[in-house]
Amino acid sequence: MSLRPNLKIDVFPALQDNYGFLIQDQATGKTAIIDAPEPRAITARLDAWGVGLDYILNTHWHPDHAGGNVLIQKRYGAVIYGPPEVRRIAPLDHVLEPGDVFHLGDTRLDVIDLGGHTLGHIGYIDAAGGNAFVADTIFPLGCGRLFEGTPAQMWGALKRIADLPDETRLYSAHEYSLSNLKFAEHLGINPALSTRADIIRAKRAAGEPTVPSTVAEEKATNPFLVYPLQETDFDAQAAKFGELRRAKDCF
Ligand code: ZN
Ligand code: FE
Repeated sequence: MSLRPNLKIDVFPALQDNYGFLIQDQATGKTAIIDAPEPRAITARLDAWGVGLDYILNTHWHPDHAGGNVLIQKRYGAVIYGPPEVRRIAPLDHVLEPGDVFHLGDTRLDVIDLGGHTLGHIGYIDAAGGNAFVADTIFPLGCGRLFEGTPAQMWGALKRIADLPDETRLYSAHEYSLSNLKFAEHLGINPALSTRADIIRAKRAAGEPTVPSTVAEEKATNPFLVYPLQETDFDAQAAKFGELRRAKDCF
């Protein structure tokens, strides 16, 4: 499959350690943000691009993801799509469920179930362009906390990400790489991890984001994929994952 890159993507910092994502379909000019972390940061990017905003696409209900819905919609008239759980804290115009397809102009985004961090967490996959917006499910060398779901549910979500094509870029919603790196190194150092550690430390020293990473990088070095995938069946993988997640929670 050859990639047909049709999305322009801007990764920008917001709040303490969040990333916001402004995306634009190049064929039609339609714009969207994946989540609405911080209105001021979003407005600054839209101004820099000189564009308005057509849509907000939420991934889950947490305030650092949906907290900007009200102000951004008010300012730009953007239409809000997302999982029903967003209504716990913010307005939502249209509900999206796993299996749904959202069209940003000519770009097709497939909605997938990434429940675990929250029960209704969803991801947006641009398969043609090789982009996956995964928010708080997987991070470079890490994964989201289990606030609502079970280890088996979160492992299912991580497995769906691991099963995407190797070159897929993963747009995670936080910059946690340095702390994730410490935990990964604590579990065991290998050549692939050492190489990646150098790259991550250099990027952070230069103030650059470590997002996006790729499926291939995470499968090679992310302990939350590497160790569970050494087990043979789903239940053993989920159990191993749960063990690692608990260890990280008190690391
Ligand atoms: Zn979250
Ligand atoms: Fe978050």
